[in-house]
Amino acid sequence: MKPHRSAHKKYRRTDTYSFLSSMYSLFHTNPEMFVIKKLRNCHGEYDPLRDIISLDFRRELVPTIIHETLHALHYNWSETQVMRRERQIVGALSMHQVRNILKRFVQVL
Ligand SMILES: [Zn+2]
Repeated sequence: MKPHRSAHKKYRRTDTYSFLSSMYSLFHTNPEMFVIKKLRNCHGEYDPLRDIISLDFRRELVPTIIHETLHALHYNWSETQVMRRERQIVGALSMHQVRNILKRFVQVL
């Protein structure tokens, strides 16, 4: 008999679809929200008051875009929750999805 493991359901590629579609909506409706700059001591940050995501171009961009977008979409999530979901999403992405994220992100700049 297979062990019951519903408590920790594996995060699958299909689970990324709703996040990616929310992120692409933000890219489309609010492109000025994404700012590229030099940051001190962090890869990116989300400012909830200005609703601005800042990304340090010297760091790994794709995981940082995903991380900061998660903060913007789930303002009540803890840093731990955001980091966990970021890792799940990044681990589940296909190369096709990564290329798509980069192509769509270029259009907000
Ligand atoms: Zn964070």
